[in-house]
Amino acid sequence: MAIKVIKEQCIGCSACVSACPFGAIEMQDDAKAFVTEACTACGACIDTCPVKTIIREQEEKQVAIDKNAYKDVWVYIELTEGKPRNVGLELLGEGRKLADAMNQKLAAVILGDGVEPIAKEAFAAGADKVYLVEGPEYAHYSTDAYTIALVDLIGAYKPSVILLGATNDGRDLGPRIACRVGTGLTADCTGLGIDEATGLVAWTRPAFGGNIMATILCPDHRPQMGTVRPKVFKKPEPDYAKSGEIIRVASKVKPGDIRTKLVEVIKVCTASCNLEEAEIIVSGGRGLCKPENFTLIEDLANVLGGAVGASRAAVDAGWKPALHQVGQTGKTVGPKIYFACGISGAIQHLAGMSSSDIVIAINKDPDAPIFKMADYGIVGDVMEVLPILTEEFKKIRQ
Ligand code: FAD
Repeated sequence: MAIKVIKEQCIGCSACVSACPFGAIEMQDDAKAFVTEACTACGACIDTCPVKTIIREQEEKQVAIDKNAYKDVWVYIELTEGKPRNVGLELLGEGRKLADAMNQKLAAVILGDGVEPIAKEAFAAGADKVYLVEGPEYAHYSTDAYTIALVDLIGAYKPSVILLGATNDGRDLGPRIACRVGTGLTADCTGLGIDEATGLVAWTRPAFGGNIMATILCPDHRPQMGTVRPKVFKKPEPDYAKSGEIIRVASKVKPGDIRTKLVEVIKVCTASCNLEEAEIIVSGGRGLCKPENFTLIEDLANVLGGAVGASRAAVDAGWKPALHQVGQTGKTVGPKIYFACGISGAIQHLAGMSSSDIVIAINKDPDAPIFKMADYGIVGDVMEVLPILTEEFKKIRQ
């Protein structure tokens, strides 16, 4: 929880400045202490303040919170180039189940510039209503603008639950909002449900290196928040006959609120690394033996119009950049077909690809664990098998 100085009571002694191990407290011109963004909320300053004027923000908010005032399940719809990312729609499908179980409404939150048509997609995916915040300041994701808008929305409409995708933007935005509104957030969930005893959302995620699954509840604070990895849930079948209520909310962001400026967008991710959206993925592991052999993986992926994945061993060896990594500490994928080539099938790798519809494994070791979960297995040397597969698929495509 954030640390705050109650300005009116600060005597300007600066004891907190020297007590802070992170150099995160400064004295302002008015001789009052000020907590900067470098604060880790360790609390070292709290004990040193002789007039007890440094507090955790949570303590303030706890007094005021009325949990019954918080209703409805919200899903943040992340946009890329003005289009909804699949993860937002996947979460609407899952959010629908939560909202029905809680007897509440499901709402999509859409921020952007000229993005009203996306409301149709949200209704088709199950939303009852859409909160729409539009303006040029939302044309591209900005931490400041999006945080301000969402914190305002939460303050005004008080949702009970908020789901975000565990994407780069979602991982940036979710914790920031949670901290601002004084609640908790369960990151990188792989399962959602309702805890029967309490009626709270049960957020499930891997813990202790993936060895156990932890289920986390948020009993004392609102909203209950979490990020969920893309492709953990399937996108619901759209029903375009459905419609709902659009609630337009005026932007409160002022130009001075945005501290960053988007200068240029440089795309480093081509179709071959768009793993989260890919229908076919060809992944390579340490069995490829050297980086040059990854061209065999790329050739097959090209012929099939698929993306290229990699095990952590291949990424750690520097054969592929980290954005190709599949697994617990990489991406979670859910393609129609997943080729695991020279990959042993460690539990941390399986954590990222086990929801693939069909898994085809190629490994020279007939006892490799990957064969236990594969739908089809080829026992053989990837260096021999991959070129044959590529040639055969080329023939089919011609
Ligand atoms: P190996 O386990 O070395 O397997 C190589 C396989 O290739 C073997 O089965 C071998 O029989 C086969 N092979 C060798 N030569 C050939 C050939 N010529 N033809 C055919 N087959 C051949 N791993 C991930 O992948 N993703 C993660 O996100 C991830 N996160 C992790 C997080 C933590 C906290 C930890 C502790 C580990 C994580 N790992 C992750 C690492 C994971 O435990 C494994 O070490 C890793 O997945 C192994 O990669 P690999 O299968 O490519 O290599």
